[in-house]
Amino acid sequence: MYAIDFHTHPHLHIDDLTPWVEFTWRCGIDRIVLLGDVLGRGYDPTIGQVRQINDNNFGLVEKHPGFCAGFCFLNATNDPRESLEELDRCRTMGAVGVKMEVSAFASDTRLDPIMRRLGEIGLPLLHHSWNTWSMGRVSAPGCNQSDSADIADLAGRFPRVTIIAAHLRPNGLRGVWEVREHRNVLFDTSGGQPVTGVIEGAVRLLGADRILYGSDAYFPDGRDYGPQLACIEAARIPNRAKEKLMRFNALRVLEEARR
Ligand SMILES: [Zn+2]
Repeated sequence: MYAIDFHTHPHLHIDDLTPWVEFTWRCGIDRIVLLGDVLGRGYDPTIGQVRQINDNNFGLVEKHPGFCAGFCFLNATNDPRESLEELDRCRTMGAVGVKMEVSAFASDTRLDPIMRRLGEIGLPLLHHSWNTWSMGRVSAPGCNQSDSADIADLAGRFPRVTIIAAHLRPNGLRGVWEVREHRNVLFDTSGGQPVTGVIEGAVRLLGADRILYGSDAYFPDGRDYGPQLACIEAARIPNRAKEKLMRFNALRVLEEARR
């Protein structure tokens, strides 16, 4: 069974993924979700820079249909009317969700206009998150990394929007605990060190339906597929749960987005 990688990025200068397609298949992955070069223009990109990042991302989606699904990158500190226009523009290019990074905390009310629109059109948000108890609330000037507590706040205010919190392992079990009551929140497994036990704990606390495989591969570098996939393969969870994490939950989220 092939996996679907729900968390990958291209660097802005990459305009062709052909060198990676066969390698990706050989790693046991047949589809990837491309989230754009979300840090390619710094922590707080202008709407013009956001458009440039999306043009690059959806250029790749168009070049590799069937292999890539694309998310529209938005910055909640931009003018909300311009962000909503950009979302519409990306939907015409096939966007199946919105990605946000570190410009604003997920609990910031400047996300609200975008969240309301996502609720109306039935698309998910994939938001960066990390354990800021260990990193510090602001780890570098302007880098507003959301804690899972910010994700929980957002999820409570918009319970009808599917929210995928990025980076399960560096959020750890405390992060899982923060979002457990919010059934609209899923975690992707990308990133951090390949520590054992976190996936097992997340499956126990959230259920296997709320966790998605992601690598955070960043073409041409970034995190590798192998160790990120091996974390799931080695996890002491039932095979049926592994199949959900590696493929079936991603299929469900993508199908709901295309309705
Ligand atoms: Zn990422």
